[in-house]
Amino acid sequence: MKKSTRRACRFSFRVVTFLLCLAVLVTLFQIPSRIFQKEDVLESYIARSFSVILGRDATIEDLRFWYQNLQKGNASAVSMIDNLMEGSEFEKRELSLDQKLDIVYESMLGRPADENGKEYWLRYLNGGVSKALLVHTIANTQEFKSFCSGYSVKPGDVSITEERDLDPNMTLLVSKLSRTVLGKNLDNMELNSWIANLGNNEVGLSTLMLDILKRKEFVEKGYSREETVRILFESMLEREPSEQELTEYIDILEHGVSMEYVLDQISKLPEYQMKWVTQGVSTGNITLTQPRDLHYELTGFIARFYEKLSGHVATEEELNDGIGKILSGDLKITDMLTSVLESPESQETLASNEDFVNAVYEVLYGTVPDADLAEGYRIGLDHGITRAKVLKEIMKAPSFNEKMTELGVPVTTEKVIPEKVIALTFDDGPYTPVTFRILDALKPYDGHATFFVVGNRVDPYSECVIRAVNQDCEIGNHTWNHTTLTKISGDSVAKQINDCDSAVYNLAGVHTKVMRPVGGSYNNTVANNVGRPMIIWSVDTNDWKYRDSNHVINEILNNVRDGDIILMHDIYETTAAAVEYVVPELIERGYTLVTLSELAEYKGIDLKAGEAYFSIRG
Ligand code: ZN
Repeated sequence: MKKSTRRACRFSFRVVTFLLCLAVLVTLFQIPSRIFQKEDVLESYIARSFSVILGRDATIEDLRFWYQNLQKGNASAVSMIDNLMEGSEFEKRELSLDQKLDIVYESMLGRPADENGKEYWLRYLNGGVSKALLVHTIANTQEFKSFCSGYSVKPGDVSITEERDLDPNMTLLVSKLSRTVLGKNLDNMELNSWIANLGNNEVGLSTLMLDILKRKEFVEKGYSREETVRILFESMLEREPSEQELTEYIDILEHGVSMEYVLDQISKLPEYQMKWVTQGVSTGNITLTQPRDLHYELTGFIARFYEKLSGHVATEEELNDGIGKILSGDLKITDMLTSVLESPESQETLASNEDFVNAVYEVLYGTVPDADLAEGYRIGLDHGITRAKVLKEIMKAPSFNEKMTELGVPVTTEKVIPEKVIALTFDDGPYTPVTFRILDALKPYDGHATFFVVGNRVDPYSECVIRAVNQDCEIGNHTWNHTTLTKISGDSVAKQINDCDSAVYNLAGVHTKVMRPVGGSYNNTVANNVGRPMIIWSVDTNDWKYRDSNHVINEILNNVRDGDIILMHDIYETTAAAVEYVVPELIERGYTLVTLSELAEYKGIDLKAGEAYFSIRG
């Protein structure tokens, strides 16, 4: 080989080597430079996400972790953003919903939310939909996908599983209701379950309303009736009630019915039905089950009675229990109303007896009482006649039964007539040591008797008269000072009777409707001037003559029969002892112990003034 050729060969080799080296170098430079560029974009994407979401720089570890996962496709833009926003670090920033919304926009789209978007999403997010729905919605926009492609990052998505996100409009509706009524949203689990059920038409809106209204949070707010009506209108009809509606619905609530009833009323409005049906929401219906809801007018009547006469608003239990028992016949309405007066607040509420009588008339009949009647009641009440007794008398008016029939209360107009009735009568008293024993003996059997009192003894022994009236006994007239009427003038007879009557009336507010002549003696002058039926007797115990309990007992038990009028005197201890023995025995034998007036009523006899009656057998 020529020297020059060898040189040329060496040169070519060097050139080739150089070119090869150059090629290798270029290749070596080119490949890494492409990797670096790609790495830079992804890295900056991670860095900006950390800065936007957590407000800090990403650490080397953050960058390495997310870089690897994003590059391998284990993570996406959505999953990284979601991960950062779910962490405790993000939580600690304590951002407002408004700020969070901006962060989602900024991290996903690289821009803040526009005004419309912001308003729209704030409404839904405040209304209970989750952030997932927002992220999912943005993730499906072209804008997001382009933004991701600019950073060569896989966009990704988040799946929507919760009911509140699947039916956002229903979520808004439910949340609005709960915020109107409770002032707060339901928790997410509850929200999901209500939306699912409403969506399936398993329940209607009224059921949801009822559930919300029964919550402790609502009850504890202690809204007034007016506030309650306003809340119900706002939540169910989304408007204010008119003045007329306000009055009408407050009146409904005043009836003492439950929320179910009020909801039922509103649910029946065509406006309510139209409103929700057109929005595709099932309105549902309320099933009324409580006695107080099923008997609206009666509930109102009893509630008013409680409010006016017991000093407190009737409780749910009082109304339901009372109405249930009245309608099933287990409780007489008269007994129920009487028991209301026994509450301690009752007496305080209506301190004046006049107010009490007026209140009873107003609630029972919607009227004011007749002046004479009212005066009698007031006199009696002022001297110790009980309010329960006065109420009982007032409820004896025929209009009471009419009123009850109107209210759907079963009223038995047929009188139950006892098989055997007798009238125990006591003359010459009252006298506390004896009269009280007799009243004590009658009380356990609800036995009634007639006390023919001597007028001038009424004041000294007034407690006897008051107790006798309270125990439904009758006060008869036995002259002013025990004068034998056959020996005096007609005018004097009348005066004897009237003076006694006045003494009784001025104490107990009741008149003496029957009289007994002293010694049972009468003549035409007496008959023409007593102005009352003259009650004699059919069984004379001669208690005054023998002062022997056994004699009295035997006289009664050996002779008694239906319709008898039995004569005794409530001034002898021996008589009291005899009564204590004989009352349970008579009851045992089937007798009902009644007053004179009751005896006549049971026997259908209209007692006439000036006529003498020895027995009343009908
Ligand atoms: Zn006498």
